[in-house]
Amino acid sequence: MFSLPLMSSGTHDAYDAQDAFRGDHVGDHSALRALATEAVHAGREDLPALGLHAPPLDLSTTYPSHDSRGEAARIDAFAADGAELMGPPVYGRLGNPTVARFETALARLEGTESAVAFASGMAALSAVLLMRNALGLRHVVAVRPLYGCSDHLLTAGLLGSEVTWTDPAGISEALRPDTGLVMVESPANPTLAEIDLRAVAHACGSVPLLADNTFATPVLQRPAEQGARLVLHSATKYLGGHGDVMGGVVACDEELARRLRQVRFATGGVLHPLAGYLLLRGLSTLPVRVRAASSTAAELARRLAADPRVARVHYPRIGGAMVAFEVYGDPHAVIAGVRLITPAVSLGSVDSLIQHPASISHRIVDATDRRGAGVSDRLLRLSVGLEDVEDLWADLEGALGAERSGGDRRREEVAGR
Ligand SMILES: *Cc1c(COP(=O)(O)O)cnc(C)c1O
Repeated sequence: MFSLPLMSSGTHDAYDAQDAFRGDHVGDHSALRALATEAVHAGREDLPALGLHAPPLDLSTTYPSHDSRGEAARIDAFAADGAELMGPPVYGRLGNPTVARFETALARLEGTESAVAFASGMAALSAVLLMRNALGLRHVVAVRPLYGCSDHLLTAGLLGSEVTWTDPAGISEALRPDTGLVMVESPANPTLAEIDLRAVAHACGSVPLLADNTFATPVLQRPAEQGARLVLHSATKYLGGHGDVMGGVVACDEELARRLRQVRFATGGVLHPLAGYLLLRGLSTLPVRVRAASSTAAELARRLAADPRVARVHYPRIGGAMVAFEVYGDPHAVIAGVRLITPAVSLGSVDSLIQHPASISHRIVDATDRRGAGVSDRLLRLSVGLEDVEDLWADLEGALGAERSGGDRRREEVAGR
């Protein structure tokens, strides 16, 4: 009764270092290095020359300069092409050195030329839509499910875009002359449905494909290598990793990054420097956290799939720390019953979180659309953290306990417990 696909534990440990690089603008040491090495060194190459070990946190909103002619020239250059400012910073909304370190590091991990950071994942998606709308390319083709608020932003047309929802096979047919973006998530929030990104990128033709890589992280999947031109993260989740920082980021080529920087400057959705600092720090443990949580998640998915109280388990082929499952009983009782796992929206923290998408993360999506996208009212979404697997299983067991099926009770009686 469950659809538990092939587990791929361990396969993603093999990281092809040759694919780690596309742009070599980020430092002198553009020798090929593995993801785990990049995670702790990218964006920090200049520190020894500065006599520093930890990256400096620059909280300045503004910067002194006696050379206003020089500043004028640099502002003109930014307005013309959106390239990162050369020389000293001018004003916090134009760019911040601590945030730039995070952008450099994330671009390196995703294998893109550039990355542009924002105040949240939704601010990042908004900047992408505004950038395309400004060119008159208001039409978006998207595949459900997406994160609830991404779905809402497109469906409600809050930024003036118009969306056509389709399945991956229908993308090329849905494209119009004014299509500015194709958007997908894989694995998708909250069903963990996976998409063949390479095939989708091919179907997009010249229209940029945006892949939301929040769930997979660059540890498990680098969509730019498969043809996505824009890779979006809610950095609030795994990149930060500790449930204490909000942010968003788009990894892309420098041409698109320049437009995004111009939109960010003019609309103000900047990432706070302290958030940039915490995200850079979060990246350094990302590979270790994702691999450890993924192996626990794979084991929990296996046990849930064998549990008679559970109707269906969703776990991605590429692995990851997210598990979704449908219960026969009342999903609200499971939420009410957990003690170790935190009942809360969001994901990607060092501690485990569980929530009911139909009530919270995807509440804002029309119920018919939500169900049509495979988000059943009995679905629960579990974000597995770094706790011990036995403690997590004991908590899930206890929370599911109230919902034991007759079959399960009978089995226990037979076992004489
Ligand atoms: C949380 C989330 C977002 C939105 O990010 P915020 O940082 O909350 O604005 C976008 N996409 C996915 C897949 C998410 O899980």
